[in-house]
Amino acid sequence: MPPQHPSEPSPGRLAVLRGPRPPQEYTARKITALTANPACARRAVLDAAGVDKALLAQRLGHEPRFGQSPFAIRRERSFEALVKWGGYAELVRLLREQLGTPVEEAAVADLNEVGGDDSLALRARETRRLLGRLASGADERLILDRPVLTLEVAGQTAHVIPQALSHRTGGRFYVVEIRSFPAIDGQANPTAVAQTTKQAAVSVLALQHTFAELGLAPEAISHMFLLICPKDFSNRPYGRLIDLRQELQALRFQLSRLRRADDLAHALSPSATLDAERPESEIDATMRELDASYTPDCLSFCEMSRYCRDEATACASPARLGGAVRNSLPGIDSLRTALGRLDGVSAPGTAEEAVIARLRAAERLRRLRGGATA
Ligand code: SF4
Repeated sequence: MPPQHPSEPSPGRLAVLRGPRPPQEYTARKITALTANPACARRAVLDAAGVDKALLAQRLGHEPRFGQSPFAIRRERSFEALVKWGGYAELVRLLREQLGTPVEEAAVADLNEVGGDDSLALRARETRRLLGRLASGADERLILDRPVLTLEVAGQTAHVIPQALSHRTGGRFYVVEIRSFPAIDGQANPTAVAQTTKQAAVSVLALQHTFAELGLAPEAISHMFLLICPKDFSNRPYGRLIDLRQELQALRFQLSRLRRADDLAHALSPSATLDAERPESEIDATMRELDASYTPDCLSFCEMSRYCRDEATACASPARLGGAVRNSLPGIDSLRTALGRLDGVSAPGTAEEAVIARLRAAERLRRLRGGATA
């Protein structure tokens, strides 16, 4: 076999890093977390390799402390079953209410499996076949339950699975997301809505990507998605159309900033591993080879955040104090270095002079203001 050039894509490299465990798929949730910190090579490789990050964090002694509770997951599943009951009768009702389409019922294609086979490749193929039919005008009133769409993320093909795709209504298809957080007097928790909106944007982008691959007109995809959640304190489904244009634009930009995970994986040493069964010291050494871009925001979306926070603390990284501090100290990788320069222990290099001068000016200002207050 001819030797492989290091820059040639090697799908096996990421699998070797992961070890024998089956890969964890990209999800809309994961993709939004990845794009929240596109500068982080560490997360890009972990996700592209399909590593179980929660397990890896545990193995490194940093149990993640966030995520949906089993109770919330159960509640979401039972609410989703309620919305889907009777051939998505509630979805059809909500589309009628929101868009004024006079459709009373629709057929449903269950894409959770195809002929008893739940492999993603087969489900994606069947989704594409049905999308082709729908776009050609056949099966106008067909709802797709859990369609499997594809999207390029950091040089890898990700499978994105929205909860549903509406039947064609007013000439358009709508991505549907079902969540169990309530809308009280028409208002749901803004943070939860923002998160869901970002995830819906991933689904719409994947739908656009799939349409483009099939040569279908993207105008048939709505830039609104239908959020369905329980109304007030009842279990009655409530629906609201939400505009995604801003999120779509932001997401496209963030995805374009992600570096190719395969290239990053190639740059690691041959013995690198992210296999949770291997000794902790080997995993730790690999993690340190991968550039991280920690900020305190990571604590709200990444399973590795406690590990990365301890690492940032140990090396006194400016990012430990937040993105604003990190961005104010370009070229300075340690707070100890900054303090040393300020105290005159060491002289700033040419690239650091402007930053140190700004810090001195800030210090003078603080003293002046302190004096004025006293
Ligand atoms: S916690 Fe670590 S791995 Fe996760 S996004 Fe932040 S820096 Fe990257």
